[in-house]
Amino acid sequence: MQSKELPSPGTLYIVATPIGNLRDITLRALDILSAVDVMAAEDTRTTANLLRHYSINKKMMALHRHNENATVDKVASLLSRGQSVALVTDAGTPGISDPGGILVKLIREQGYKVVPVPGPSAAVCALSAAGITAPHFLFYGFLPASGGPRRRELEALKSQPYTIIFYEAPHRILECLTDLVEVLGDQRRITIARELTKLFETIHSCELRDASAWLQADPNRQKGEFVLLVSGAVAPNPAELPEQAQHILKLLLRDLPLKHAVTLSAEISGESKNTLYSQALLLQREQNQQK
Ligand code: SAM
Repeated sequence: MQSKELPSPGTLYIVATPIGNLRDITLRALDILSAVDVMAAEDTRTTANLLRHYSINKKMMALHRHNENATVDKVASLLSRGQSVALVTDAGTPGISDPGGILVKLIREQGYKVVPVPGPSAAVCALSAAGITAPHFLFYGFLPASGGPRRRELEALKSQPYTIIFYEAPHRILECLTDLVEVLGDQRRITIARELTKLFETIHSCELRDASAWLQADPNRQKGEFVLLVSGAVAPNPAELPEQAQHILKLLLRDLPLKHAVTLSAEISGESKNTLYSQALLLQREQNQQK
C-alpha cells in the first residue's frame, strides 16, 4: 500500500471534499488536510464541520468568489516562505462551478507547484449512475438564473450532440425544466439526480415531457441539490423522410437555392427543416458527383 503522503513545501494542493456523505473523502485528502500548514476554504464554517468530523485542527483563510483575486497574493506569500496550502470548497472539486480557477491559474503562472487531490464531483457522480450509454458529454454547470438569458443559452446548446450536464438550485428547478422543454423539445431523455450521496438521494430518468409532472407529484422531489443530464441532439435521418416530401424537395431544388428550397419544402410537407436540410445536402452532393 502506498504510504501516507506529507505535503511538499511551497505547494498548493487542490483537494476534493464530499458532496454530502462525509465518508466520501480519500485517504490521501485526509493525509494532506491533516498536514498542510494552511487551508484556503470557500466557507470556513462549512469546512470546519468536515475537519471536526475527522478531528483535524487547521489554520484556515477564506477564499470565495468575491475575494479570490485578492487572496492570490496571500497564498503566494505563504508558498514563497515554504509553507504548503490546501484549497477546498464547500463540496466536491474546487474549480468545478466553484472558486479555484483564478487562484490556480495565477499561482501556476508564478511558478509554484499545484497538485490535485481528486475526489467527488456531483457531475461525475450523477453520470456514473445515470446509465447513459452515449460516449461523450458536455459539462455546462449552472445556466443563467433568469428566463431570457437561460433560453438564449439553451438555444446555443440545442444542436450539441452530447449529453449535457447542468447544475441547478431547488428554487429554479421547475422553471429550468419548463425552459428545457420549450427550447429543446419534449422528447429528449433527462436524468434528474438529486441529493447525491445523501439520505434522500434520488435518481430518476424520463422524457423531458414528463419531468415537471414527476417533480410536482411530490413537493419533496423539488428540494435539495440537483444535477440534470439531458441527452444530446439526435442527428436528423433523411432516410426517414416520406417519399412525397423527398419529391417536393427534389422539384424545388431544381430551380431554387438550397436554403429557400428547404424552407418551402418544410412549409409544404410539414417535415422537419433539419431533416430536409440534411437530405438537400445529400442530393446536392450526389448531383455534384454526377457532373
Ligand atoms: N464543486 C462542486 C462539484 O465538484 O460538483 C459543485 C459546486 S456547485 C457550487 C454546487 C452545485 O453542484 C449544486 O447546486 C448542485 O447543482 C450540484 N451538487 C452539489 N452537490 C450535490 C449533490 N449532493 N447532489 C446533487 N447535486 C449536487
